[in-house]
Amino acid sequence: MNNEPYKTYLNENELPTSWYNMRADMKRKPAPLLNPATGKPCTAEDLEKVFCGDLVRQELDDTTAEFAIPDEIRDFYRMFRPSPLIRAYFLEKALGTPAKIYYKFEGNNTSGSHKLNSAVAQAYYAKKQGLKGVTTETGAGQWGTALSMACAFFGLDCKVFMVKCSYEQKPFRREVMRTYGASVTPSPSMDTNVGRMINAEHPGTTGSLGCAISEAVETAVTNPGYRYVLGSVLNQVLLHQSIIGLEARTAFRKLGVKPDIIIGCAGGGSNLGGLIAPFMGEKLRGEADYRFIAVEPASCPSFTRGKYAYDYCDTGRICPLSKMYTLGADFIPSASHAGGLRFHGMSSTLSELYDQKLMEAVSVKQTEVFEAAQFFARTEGILPAPESSHAIRGAINEAVKCRESGEAKTILFGLTGTGYFDMTAYQAFNDGKMSDYLPTDEDLERSFAKLPKIG
Ligand SMILES: *Cc1c(COP(=O)(O)O)cnc(C)c1O
Repeated sequence: MNNEPYKTYLNENELPTSWYNMRADMKRKPAPLLNPATGKPCTAEDLEKVFCGDLVRQELDDTTAEFAIPDEIRDFYRMFRPSPLIRAYFLEKALGTPAKIYYKFEGNNTSGSHKLNSAVAQAYYAKKQGLKGVTTETGAGQWGTALSMACAFFGLDCKVFMVKCSYEQKPFRREVMRTYGASVTPSPSMDTNVGRMINAEHPGTTGSLGCAISEAVETAVTNPGYRYVLGSVLNQVLLHQSIIGLEARTAFRKLGVKPDIIIGCAGGGSNLGGLIAPFMGEKLRGEADYRFIAVEPASCPSFTRGKYAYDYCDTGRICPLSKMYTLGADFIPSASHAGGLRFHGMSSTLSELYDQKLMEAVSVKQTEVFEAAQFFARTEGILPAPESSHAIRGAINEAVKCRESGEAKTILFGLTGTGYFDMTAYQAFNDGKMSDYLPTDEDLERSFAKLPKIG
């Protein structure tokens, strides 16, 4: 090793005091959310029936660049932040690459992922508004876990609709949430109109994220004192996650290093949007240039094979419509897909940046993702979440290109979490039983045919 540190930690007093909103520096802004009943842009009043007031203001604001982080949230952040920026010396050596590889590790908290950064903010604003509780959905369970922790801290009730197949496959994830005081209901349930309808139409269904979202929204709007919160996709979530990029940029400045390529996995886009935010801001203002790469699963390829169109975010079609790269609201990845990142759509902000060619995207097959995960675990020691391993795969691919060209690029990627609850997926990989099913063009066309006809 040379004399540069393996880990760069910031001091607590270097924890950012504001979040950064990329949209303020975009000349062409992301398209507005539309009210599904009227087809017109959502007003604050429309959204406040579903979401907390302060979060609605963050959602709709595309001109304010900086939002001060309230002290209560910064105090909570101190329990697990600033997170380390790590130089992947052992990975570089194993790859024989001249590239310098860094990763920002967000798995250093019990919920195991970056999702806590936004969960604590959303729980804080709900409490500040005097609400009793919040409702949400969770797929793999990281968001539900993060939100349960945050709600326990602020004394809020937390109702989680967990996609039924995960509820059954990940009993320990469920128990973590219950330990923090959340109630966890398998979705589709018989507790909501939309759940009963979906169960009647598709008996025995093991659920989907889109369906769990509809159930959580219905529960929020029919219970006084409750609002719905979402762990990805929305602008407010990208705003809270900007803490990742802001810390990373400060750490790089201390090291005197500038990254050339910034890589993140993309499910709904929140960790990637947060990691790239301040760097994208520099690019948008013409101050610096970077390459940004979104890495998504080939079995749920929203950016690389999706359409840029208005679409529903949920199966029940009760949420606002968002203009985004989408595979269609009814798209469900193949049952063999084990790598997470299974939402059919994408953040509207990242979608617009991608459409303006300010960002690139690649898709990777899940067997390649788990190969990268295993290689990373064996070299850098951390057992990565399958989602995060998409970014590892992306970084390894770029580092191998550097080996071939002899260029010593500096690569930063987001290591969003740990994979302890994903051992069934690792088991399938270790047993050689993991397969790669990619949707056919016909599968996608069927799904695109149901896109709402707007604009
Ligand atoms: C939820 C999750 C993701 C994907 O969500 P984004 O909103 O796209 O960031 C990635 N990694 C981990 C560990 C997650 O829990």
